[in-house]
Amino acid sequence: MTKMFIQKQNYSKLYVSLHKTVIKMKDIRNYCLKEHNTFKIDVLADRFISFDDSSEFIQFAQGNNALFNNKFLITGEGSNLLFTKDFNGTIIHPETKAIGVVRESSDYIYIKAEAGINWDDFVADTISRGGFGLENLSLIPGTVGASVVQNIGAYGAEAADFVDSVDYFCLSDFKVKTISKNDCDFAYRNSIFKNELKGKAIVLSVVYRLSKNAVCNTSYADIQNYFKAGEELNPSKIRKAVIDIRENKLPDHKKIGNAGSFFKNPIIEKQQFVELIKKCPDLRYYELPDDRYKLAAGWMIDQCNLKGYEHKGAAIHENQALVLINKSGKTTGDEVSELAEIVHAKVFQKYGVELEPEVIIL
Ligand SMILES: Cc1cc2nc3c(=O)[nH]c(=O)nc-3n(C[C@H](O)[C@H](O)[C@H](O)COP(=O)(O)OP(=O)(O)OC[C@H]3O[C@@H](n4cnc5c(N)ncnc54)[C@H](O)[C@@H]3O)c2cc1C
Repeated sequence: MTKMFIQKQNYSKLYVSLHKTVIKMKDIRNYCLKEHNTFKIDVLADRFISFDDSSEFIQFAQGNNALFNNKFLITGEGSNLLFTKDFNGTIIHPETKAIGVVRESSDYIYIKAEAGINWDDFVADTISRGGFGLENLSLIPGTVGASVVQNIGAYGAEAADFVDSVDYFCLSDFKVKTISKNDCDFAYRNSIFKNELKGKAIVLSVVYRLSKNAVCNTSYADIQNYFKAGEELNPSKIRKAVIDIRENKLPDHKKIGNAGSFFKNPIIEKQQFVELIKKCPDLRYYELPDDRYKLAAGWMIDQCNLKGYEHKGAAIHENQALVLINKSGKTTGDEVSELAEIVHAKVFQKYGVELEPEVIIL
């Protein structure tokens, strides 16, 4: 997919100029989704609509609003999806790629990016513009649009720390609306777009507020250990460290189908934690500010001796217990889902803790 970074000071002008370009909106029946999900599951969608111009899509959607009375799904790069069957509905796939600085203050730069931009391209672009903060989120697969839906996070940072506002197309009244960060109900891998606005909003663009002053977030041990003691750091170095660490740790989804961490790290109440730690003193956990405890799901799966475990064409990655993979290259979503159930049952049996999928199972 080609990158189209357009640098303009005035974002509204950007829309005008884009509108004059050749418009490519696809509307295809019986479309294969294998290249649109990182698990590489071979399924069909009844209909696939992609667009690279938000204005054109809005016009189309306003004239075809009955489309949204039937089953539909918005997809980015499909890096958090598991299709267990053909999708009997319409896939809406933004491929919009405009980006621009919309505002600046003495301390911050506000960068607006359209939903279809690849997340890591966006991170690289923000650093090159002197906007800092997203470097810890380098190399997370997916799109800018999904970054706010999922509230992506890694290495001590999450999207919510930097979001200013989100423009979305509201499927209740077919108007474009802006929602500010405070109204997005961001939480761990969660947002209003997964709850109140689920199925009611297509994220069109996000404004990220980034610091002009480089503050390097080395809160994660992996990042601290990467550098020599006393080494002078900057955001580009942090980005490189995160990329190196991730490349060493996680399977490349372009080579072996997967969707990153399959399960969320479960959060339990203090009472359950106190009982559990008595039985399992070596439990890996983080204490949360609200007196609850987040447990390391990958560690628990590993303790169940499941690394490398295979189920039909699916498997648990040999080095990363939290990552389920399409080992045969031909596995089905059902096989991966069955494997997830096996993992869930074993962890529950050993720890009495329910694992909840982070991946959306369809
Ligand atoms: C190897 C690997 C590593 C990963 N590491 C991390 C990690 O470190 N941290 C992390 O948080 N995640 C991680 N993930 C998960 C994934 O990258 C994120 O969830 C990402 O945000 C998904 O982006 P996507 O564009 O692929 O969205 P999709 O998977 O296509 O969609 C995800 C959800 O967002 C919705 N959605 C997508 N675009 C829009 C839109 N424009 N408007 C409204 N809804 C939309 C979809 O309907 C769906 O509900 C990883 C995945 C992989 C494969």
